[in-house]
Amino acid sequence: MHPVWSSFYGQWRLRSGGLTVLRENQDCPPERLLQSIWLHQRLCRERLKTVDGREVRVLHPGFHNREGGPDFKGAVIQLGDGPAETGDVEVDLQASAWKGHGHDRNPAFGRVILHVLWESPRAPGGGPPTVVIREALDAPLGELSLWLGSESGFDLPADLRGKCCAPLSQLAETEVTGLLHQAARVRLLSKAARFQARARQAGWEQSLWEGLFRALGYKHNVWPMQRLAELRPRWTESAEPLTLQARLFGISGLLPAELSRAHKGADLYLRRIWDCWWRERDQFGDCLLPRSVWRLHGLRPANHPQRRLALGAHWSGANRLPADLENWCVREVPRSELVHSLAAVLQAGPDPFWSWHWTFRSSRLSRPQPLLGVTRVTDLAVNVVLPWLLIRAEEGGNAPLARRIEARYFDWPAGEDNAVLRLARQRLLGVSARKGLPGAAAQQGLIQLVRDFCDHSNAVCEACKLPALVRDWKGAGRG
Ligand code: SF4
Repeated sequence: MHPVWSSFYGQWRLRSGGLTVLRENQDCPPERLLQSIWLHQRLCRERLKTVDGREVRVLHPGFHNREGGPDFKGAVIQLGDGPAETGDVEVDLQASAWKGHGHDRNPAFGRVILHVLWESPRAPGGGPPTVVIREALDAPLGELSLWLGSESGFDLPADLRGKCCAPLSQLAETEVTGLLHQAARVRLLSKAARFQARARQAGWEQSLWEGLFRALGYKHNVWPMQRLAELRPRWTESAEPLTLQARLFGISGLLPAELSRAHKGADLYLRRIWDCWWRERDQFGDCLLPRSVWRLHGLRPANHPQRRLALGAHWSGANRLPADLENWCVREVPRSELVHSLAAVLQAGPDPFWSWHWTFRSSRLSRPQPLLGVTRVTDLAVNVVLPWLLIRAEEGGNAPLARRIEARYFDWPAGEDNAVLRLARQRLLGVSARKGLPGAAAQQGLIQLVRDFCDHSNAVCEACKLPALVRDWKGAGRG
């Protein structure tokens, strides 16, 4: 046994169950270790060659992707005498995974420029260039697994931090927060301007509904949700939530034709929905969405668009949300109550079916669940409700109310973490992926920096102006 494991603390770590420990002579690493080896480049890098003999120069290994798609995004790789290319990297144990896992048919893998393999019993045909790393590790596997247990294998290595990280770390914490708040204010105002532009075309309420529905689409279903919101004047004529649900499910293409025999309660509800939809389907025949516009793969059940549409139907049926939001913004709300007070306005139901089921097909829950989880409230607040209320107040010439809404934005507690924030905290601010930010505005500001700077550069920060801007800002005495 390696000496580190034989100490009593080493034994505690082993018994914690959280470590992947390999024997020195174990032949095949788990994929997670392989990904970590690639991220940290625990490789004899000068020895890397593709199976067709080209030298592989890894200018940047890419950023670990925890969502669907390739394992690493935005890598910068040079093969042989070719130019440096930016693209994705997929890491697998064997070459056969490319076809076996369906990557060859999945458009999300269309930007893969390198397939990194543990071993390759045979050369793959037709996939991206491949490199085999089994013989190129910089230490035995057992030692590497020990290192993975000692470090946070998926925290960004210090040498992969962005070029802005050093100048930003020269700023005091309050200055960093001030900078993030400046960026957040730009983000707030640009979202508000979008509502203003849409309101000129379609009216204030319609612009709000479109914003709310887009936010209900979460990341992957923004556009079909936007389309449904645009059609709202057509489907919202009745105040009956069940009828509205039937219309939304029918128009969206998300209404299942039938359910399995195992879901009796769901079958009954589905029959009632179909009873409504049969009668009305023809009048919406020109605006039906194909089911293929929805991205449903890999969604958490709580984020499923069927559930979101049920919520949208309740909001529309009650038909008082815009007024309720305006009342909420003129009320005094203590900082500690911000999220819950808005959640109370946005919450709908209870719903006899959707309070007890995540989707049409899921089993009945043991306890009822709210149609809107508290974690989504912050997302709705910073992206929709506060920008919309702000521009309403400004257009109405109510400067004190506008200032109050802005203050509410900057007081708002931090929302749910996500992959963009985790990476940006490590890459720009040089802090651990686990260290959060002080509030939602700081989170929004950091996302704005990513959009304004990282998205216009690459993994090696080529031509990015932020480092110089931060230095100049500090030098001008503001830092
Ligand atoms: S691209 Fe710019 S903003 Fe992004 S990490 Fe690099 S230096 Fe920082």
